[in-house]
Formats: sequence, C-alpha cells, structure tokens
Amino acid sequence: MKNINHLLKKYDVPGPRYTSYPTVPAWVGDVGAADYSTSLKSILSGDKLSLYFHLPFCENLCHFCGCMQVITKDHSRSAEYVQKLIHEINLIAAQIPQKPRLVSQIHFGGGTPNFIKPAELTLIMQVIRQHFDVLPDAEIAIEMHPRTSTREFCENLATLGFNRISLGLQDLDPKVQKLINRNQTYEMTRDMVESLRLLGFNSFNFDLVYGLPGQSYEGWMDTLGKVLKMKPNRMAIYSYAHVPWVRPVQRTFEDSDLPTPEMKINFFETALQFFSSNGYQLIGMDHFALHDDELAIALKEGTIHRNFMGYSTRSDAHQIGMGVSAISYVGGNYFQNAKDLKSYYPKIDQDTLATHRGYILNADDALRRDLITQIMCRGYVDIKAFEQKWKIKFKDYFPEALLNLANFQEDNLLKLDANEFKVIDEGSLFLRNMAMVFDAHLEGIRAKAKNPTFSRTI
Ligand code: SF4
Repeated sequence: MKNINHLLKKYDVPGPRYTSYPTVPAWVGDVGAADYSTSLKSILSGDKLSLYFHLPFCENLCHFCGCMQVITKDHSRSAEYVQKLIHEINLIAAQIPQKPRLVSQIHFGGGTPNFIKPAELTLIMQVIRQHFDVLPDAEIAIEMHPRTSTREFCENLATLGFNRISLGLQDLDPKVQKLINRNQTYEMTRDMVESLRLLGFNSFNFDLVYGLPGQSYEGWMDTLGKVLKMKPNRMAIYSYAHVPWVRPVQRTFEDSDLPTPEMKINFFETALQFFSSNGYQLIGMDHFALHDDELAIALKEGTIHRNFMGYSTRSDAHQIGMGVSAISYVGGNYFQNAKDLKSYYPKIDQDTLATHRGYILNADDALRRDLITQIMCRGYVDIKAFEQKWKIKFKDYFPEALLNLANFQEDNLLKLDANEFKVIDEGSLFLRNMAMVFDAHLEGIRAKAKNPTFSRTI
C-alpha cells in the first residue's frame, strides 16, 4: 500500500456511497404520488423492469444496522403488512397501462424477508405474476437470515422459482457478533447453505462488513477462510457506516471498540488479496464475483450496472420499489415510499401511491448520474464516447472537477487524459472520493445540513 497515512489524511472524509445520483439528501418532499404516477405511465411496452420488495421485520436488532427495519418476535404482524404490499402491487400495476410488463429482476430485501410465512411469500409471487410478465431468465433473489430460516421456507423458495440467495454474514468472530448483537455461527450458516444447495440453489451472495466493533486481524482472517470454504458466487464487503446521529442504536458500543481507519484499510486490502488469489474478481468498489459469474463477465464486457440492489447485469430502465421506505427509479426520476408503517399503511388504504419524497432529474443531473455510475461500476470512463453520447467537451464541462482530479493523479490512483479516465492500483478504494468531484449537489447538501449527513469514505 502506498503511504497510507497520507492517503487517509487526504481522502477519509464524509461522503455519499452513490447508490443514487443525486444522493438521497438532495431529494425533496414536494415530489409526490402525482409525479410518480406520471413516471410510471411513461413506461413503454417491452421496457424491462426490476422489482424490489421491502419486508422490514426482524426478530432482533443488530446494533450496527443501517436498514429500515421493524423489530418484533410476533410473526403474526406480517399478515397485515403482506396485505398492504399486495394492495400496493395492484396500485402500481394499474399505473402502468402498457403491456407486456416485462420483469428481468425481482429482489426481496429487508429487514429479514424470511420472517414472513411461506404461504405469504407464495401469495406475493402469485400477485406479481398476475400483473407482470416475469422473464424465463429473470433473476429472483431473496435476502435471508439463517437464524429465522426454516426447511419449509427454503423448499417453498425452490417451488416459487427463486434462483439467488443473499446471506448477511458480517463477521463470524463471536466477539464481534456479541458486540453487534447478532448471534449467527459459522456452522448455522454453513448448514443452511448446504441444505439450500441440496434443494438445487447454486447462486449465493454473502455480505461481509469491515470496520465493526471488536474486529481483529486474526478474527477477520478466520472469517475470510470460512467464507471461502462456503464458496459464494458473489460477495459484497462493505465498509461499516458509523452514523450514530442517524442510528442511535450504534451508540450501544464505544467508539474505542471501532477499528482505526488504518485497520479498516488493512481489513479490506487483506480481503482483496485473499479473494483475488482464490478465484474472485473485484467488482467496482466493494463487490467480488467468481471469474465465471455473469457479474464478472459483465465487468469485462463493460455492460455492468448499479442500482439500489447493488451491482447488476440487468440494464433495466426502471426499478420499482414496493413496501415501506422502498426506493424507485422510474422514467429517469427517483421516488421513495413512506418511511415508517404509520405513514405507509394509511396511504395504501386510501388507494394512493405511497410516495413520500423523490427527485426529478434535469439534463445536467442525468449526465452526471451516468458519469458517476461509470466511475462507481468500472472505475473507467471512455471520455470520447461520453462526449459523443452527451454532446459535450469534457474539459469545458468539468473544468473545476478536472483540477480537483489532479490530486488523485499525483497520488497515482488515477490515469486521466483526453481519452480515458482510468482508476489504477489502490484507486478503487477511493471511488467515492472521485465521484464526489463530479457531484453538483454536494456543497448545497453540506451547507444545509444541521447534522453530519454521510458516513466516512474509508
Ligand atoms: S437482520 Fe439485517 S435488517 Fe435486521 S436488524 Fe440485523 S442487520 Fe438490520
């Protein structure tokens, strides 16, 4: 690693993760159901759709959690939620007059999606198939927690056509798990993966997190070794986002329990070397895929995409999120549903779309979104092709940004000339920082914020 202290001093700053552009703090409350309805109606027959369903219930609260969840051990609560979700699917479908409504990706996220009953999931899938044409090669994925999983639920997934399973592992070190209140042993995870393989599932994604309280080099290496034994097809290795001002539960551990930024970089570098030498390809900033996985192939062919569900091979124009707090990107604009059940349920009961805020992109936003997506997905931009596509001169459109990029060039993290923007060496650790250079909203967000808005980039 190059002079690590020098790089951390320069680049370890609060910044967005760029799962959207403009980022969520720039979105506004006066974008509502009427705007969303207009965007849904603009969907053309034959446009490919990605559907996301948020199932928020979890039995226990993990103390590092940054997701929208509802903590309860009362499984009967899912009945009302599923009823509202089905109502929302009906409402959304009614807003899309064109047919066929082709679906190439379905993702159930949470929360803990396997909190609901098998029969409830069956019902949701039936309603989806009533309204949408799910393509034969569609990716149908679900996030699961081994602790809540049952054999009946897994068998039902196979019957319903699910073909990708995503498991959160975070870190298998018992000391870390105790601090984050997540009791999930290696054996429990391994047994679940083995039984799913016996049911015919052969595509697994694991989520790991570095920067968690109590993490040590030895414990992390042990986790990486155990993960390799289970051989997932894909992994996401996220940097823990410490935002206790937004997630007060993160105050349950001491700041002194957290690894230093130097340790965090070391954890990621270790994982990068370990998985690169064991058959995995780094995808974007923090994802990995086996070399024969379609995600790694899409990266090589330059056809990789990024949406709220992570990196994807699907170039869908529209992502429709359903359920509490779900985010949609439809017709080139963003929309987010009501963020808690108290506001989500009444909207659905009134037969209205549950939109709570959003963002209508202008031409400059769309151009920058494309550029930032290319940086975050591939660390590479063909500048001539970009100029042609958007009918601009790169150096005239981004004079200030180009000056700011000189920093990354000096640190040998970026190669930049009139033809290409190419992230090199450890530059992939700083993709967020490079994307920030092109973010026209960042200064405004910082100026308006009363509290810190973003987690640190490292
Ligand atoms: S299971 Fe996932 S969503 Fe639920 S509390 Fe834990 S990290 Fe958050």
